[in-house]
Amino acid sequence: MPDRARTLFPCFDQPDLKARFTLSLELPAEWKAIANGATARTDTLNTASGPTAGTETSGSGPARTAARAGSQMAAGAETTGARKRISFHETEPIPTYLFSFVGGRFERVTENRNGRSISLYHRETDLQKTAQCPEILGQVFHALDWLETYTGVPYPFAKYDLIVIPGFQYGGMEHMGATLYADRSMFLENNATTENRMARGSLIAHETAHMWFGDYVTMQWFDDVWTKEVFANFFAAMIVREQFPQIDHRLNFIRSNVPGAYGEDRTAGSTAIRQQLPNLSDAGLLYSQIIYSKSPVVMEMLFTKLGPEKFRDGIREYLADHRYGNATWDDLIAVLDCRCDEDLAAWSQVWVDEKGMPTIDMTRHENRLRIMQSDPFGRRLAWNQPLQLLAFGDGNATDTLQCLLDGPETELVLPAGTRCVLPNADGRSYGYFRLDSVTSEYLMKRLTGLPDDVARLSALITLNENLLGGTIAPQRFLRAMIAYLPQERNQQLFTQALTYIRGCFGLYYDETASPELEGALWEIAQNDPDRQRRIMATQAWCGIARSPQAINTLYELWDDERLANRMLLGENDLTNLSYTLALRFPDRAAAIIARQGARITNPDRQKQYAYIAPAVSPSASVRDSVFRSLLDPANRSIEPWACTALSLLNHPVHGARSAAYIRPGLEELQEIQRTGDIFFPRKWTAALLGSQHSEAAATAVDAFIADHPGYPPLLGSKILQQADLLFRLWNRNAQNRPTSDHTSE
Ligand SMILES: [Zn+2]
Repeated sequence: MPDRARTLFPCFDQPDLKARFTLSLELPAEWKAIANGATARTDTLNTASGPTAGTETSGSGPARTAARAGSQMAAGAETTGARKRISFHETEPIPTYLFSFVGGRFERVTENRNGRSISLYHRETDLQKTAQCPEILGQVFHALDWLETYTGVPYPFAKYDLIVIPGFQYGGMEHMGATLYADRSMFLENNATTENRMARGSLIAHETAHMWFGDYVTMQWFDDVWTKEVFANFFAAMIVREQFPQIDHRLNFIRSNVPGAYGEDRTAGSTAIRQQLPNLSDAGLLYSQIIYSKSPVVMEMLFTKLGPEKFRDGIREYLADHRYGNATWDDLIAVLDCRCDEDLAAWSQVWVDEKGMPTIDMTRHENRLRIMQSDPFGRRLAWNQPLQLLAFGDGNATDTLQCLLDGPETELVLPAGTRCVLPNADGRSYGYFRLDSVTSEYLMKRLTGLPDDVARLSALITLNENLLGGTIAPQRFLRAMIAYLPQERNQQLFTQALTYIRGCFGLYYDETASPELEGALWEIAQNDPDRQRRIMATQAWCGIARSPQAINTLYELWDDERLANRMLLGENDLTNLSYTLALRFPDRAAAIIARQGARITNPDRQKQYAYIAPAVSPSASVRDSVFRSLLDPANRSIEPWACTALSLLNHPVHGARSAAYIRPGLEELQEIQRTGDIFFPRKWTAALLGSQHSEAAATAVDAFIADHPGYPPLLGSKILQQADLLFRLWNRNAQNRPTSDHTSE
């Protein structure tokens, strides 16, 4: 948390004031405790009372709230009353946001390699899951080795431990010496795919990269928080390359970043990568897909400009210049600028300091192609970048063309006989490539036949953006996907197509009821020779099943565990199915919930289920009371659970009825920011609006925006981002939505 250390002890909570911390904790004798520093000594105490965490915790309200939220999970079973004191070694100089300790009942698994000892602490009881500890630790060791070699800086802190926490609000958090991870991101189900394993590897690599980027060299102020996140994601992509040789990492880079970046950059709530931050209390609101997903795309452009050696040398100089200190983005650009012919500061101005992306249109006169870029926010910015195109001739002939977009218009001569052009064939350009109907129709038909995986992925992303941009009708898009999906043999593309199918189905819920789609996914789920494809198709099918026949099959699957096993469904899948089934079969809801509750054996997951399940109650008054309870900060301290409950309350099965939650849910957003963690405003808004489809819902969001003219802009951008699809569905124009300047030239 950028600014919450001060709720625990008196301090100046800002990243450029680093300090060495010495900590001792008094706690129940049965507990374990982990902190940034290694344990120096443990003393048995005779007294049977006292504060949990030394003198600092006896402070204000927020401190007690934080302590309660933390201890809720950690405490677990009763203690004997005996107590002990653990004293930790002094830390290296660190900012307050990285200070951390964890106490509770934990199991410990330790591995030693090359003279380094790393421990993993967890509360998992499922042997299939705990068996994954050596693989997890192996990924940590690998990431550390890679970063030491790349940066030339040995791991800069005294020790490295990790703690896996049930219901943790982030995937991970880079407290040095005591890195925290969510149980759901670390321990995978039996039916985990290579993709799932790689996502875990990427997360571990991300948090480990932070030890150098963020922890060792820290941003001066939180307006540059993105610099640590971009490094973490950019290097994580390099680190997992060797661990997963079977994956196409070029595809992976595009998939992990571009769709997420477009997801926010296409909205009226888009922000610049680097934003002004007058007050640190808003620091949490800076975190977004723009930071996590767009900035790696932009960093890759920088990497390409410099080449790998100059880039690495620049990074090494940057680390050496600011070790255990602070740096700004401009410090980095200065180091790289003298290694590059181009004016990086000017380049950075458009890509880093301005929001949004270009809309790129193509028009054709005989063999001349005009490519025009326009600024959706009307500022007449030009995003200079190279563009690769694929020109389709007769039969299967294609030509690759390259040009530079360096102004509002670029012209290109096409080879004779060109029938159609795919923009951004190498996936390295960034923008909304708006297609005319002839091109989109051609691409939808030719998708399967495109031989290059990257071109196919890029076409898929562009088609989906055009679906959301309104140039392709949802039914047409789904039909094209149903024809394409079974032919797609590349696992990563297959997964991306499934994501888009589910997205299209979820968004255009009322128009896309499709026995053909159910049938196509079912066919793959049942008969595909590849196990991972069967798993993914089954999960997708469970997500889109809507015909009475499919819902009945869904019930049989959930009901008969042997059948579920055969269909490769794991505990998480069955838990999610139980929510869907309770919503679909109101008369059987109580029995379904009771049965699923009894299947879950891990005590932390039992608590999670008991917390979430009332949100699928057939009784509107029970659901209303669940919603009201979420308006009390004390009831939403485990944020991922609160978000799941909130999104289930808004399930499409309730139609426009759940639109009534929007107003009070949005009214709560400022309180969510004050009392919740950094991702909570975004996730709360996503859970509140993500499943809404009704016109009443769009009207409610519109009215909220209209009634709050002076609303804090950073928080308002979260609403505009999450309302984007709902607004597109109902052609709403929120007050400061962008209007295309396409015709205003
Ligand atoms: Zn991070």
